[in-house]
Amino acid sequence: MTLNVGVIGVGMIGQDHIRRLTQVLSGARVVAVTDVDLNRAKAVAGELAGARIHENGQDLIGDDDVDAVIVASWGPTHEEYVLACIAAGKQVFCEKPLATTREACERILDAETKAGRRLVMVGFMRRYDDGYRAMKDTIARGDIGAPLMFHSAHRNATVPGHYVSDMIINDTCVHDVDIARFLLDTEIVAARVVKPRRNSNAADHLTDPLFLLFETADGAIVDVEASINIQFGYDIRGEVVGESGTVELAESAAVLVKRAGGYAGRIPEDWRERFVRAYDRELQEWVDAATAGRSTGPSSWDGYAATVVCDSALAALRSGERVEVSLREQPELYR
Ligand code: NAP
Repeated sequence: MTLNVGVIGVGMIGQDHIRRLTQVLSGARVVAVTDVDLNRAKAVAGELAGARIHENGQDLIGDDDVDAVIVASWGPTHEEYVLACIAAGKQVFCEKPLATTREACERILDAETKAGRRLVMVGFMRRYDDGYRAMKDTIARGDIGAPLMFHSAHRNATVPGHYVSDMIINDTCVHDVDIARFLLDTEIVAARVVKPRRNSNAADHLTDPLFLLFETADGAIVDVEASINIQFGYDIRGEVVGESGTVELAESAAVLVKRAGGYAGRIPEDWRERFVRAYDRELQEWVDAATAGRSTGPSSWDGYAATVVCDSALAALRSGERVEVSLREQPELYR
């Protein structure tokens, strides 16, 4: 069976997911697209055999030919489309963030819980990266003892002009927040943020770098270095320190070249290059699960927790204080 997918939002990542579905993955075809910029939707549909263009996301979700939906529009629009998919009983892959406010995420949790089954997967692709998966397996086997600390570094070469300081936390570090919860298998309960010396390569309006410090429910500490103008490439690092050992991401270069008294390996240019296989695997697993009528991967709860933790970190950045994270009780559906 082939899954008929509709895509809402055909900007950068929406188009990349369409490329994936049509050229890399199996089991799905793109039958409908929409975008707030209808000309863009038309241009994208023109490259797809027989794809319909809808005036808006609600019409696309209501299309009987659409089995499942990808939401890849601007973050503040996610809530509306995810709620409509739940109401229509359609599986939905929602790019992060699930929604931009705690209240919006809670409305999605309420709707999905009322529906009585999981319909939402959130696009936290790091969970599908070979390196992070091997780290998680190492911790789960007990090879390093109970995890005590997770050191994470998220370094971007540069950021686009529309990037503002809050995005360091809720757009960039949201991935570190999610992977910390995934690796350590616990919730984050408090946040602090400190500002190291400013990087002079950063635009004037950016507070770069930032150093985030999180406490987990079982007392582990997570630190995240966020550098968004590091110049040399896209560098993602992660190390979990356990009671009797450590596990860390290896360098991501496929090969090291040794010559002229030195050695070198490629550093990815950006997140698309670094996580290309993770994005492929993430979407293939969603297609397979949606075809079988079930849900998989990061849930609405994970999307909610990430948004609430980022809100606390933003409050901590503004106040300079430790800010607690308060999550509602986790519904049975997500346990
Ligand atoms: P983008 O290039 O700006 O694309 C967003 C697209 O959605 C644009 O074409 C935009 O049109 C359109 N849009 C906005 N409001 C809409 C609406 N109400 N209905 C339909 N379409 C609408 O942004 P992007 O980089 O692709 O990001 C899209 C989403 O993916 C964001 O939530 C972002 O955080 C997420 N993302 C996730 C990752 C990841 O690593 N998982 C990476 C990149 C992006 P206009 O341009 O005309 O506004």
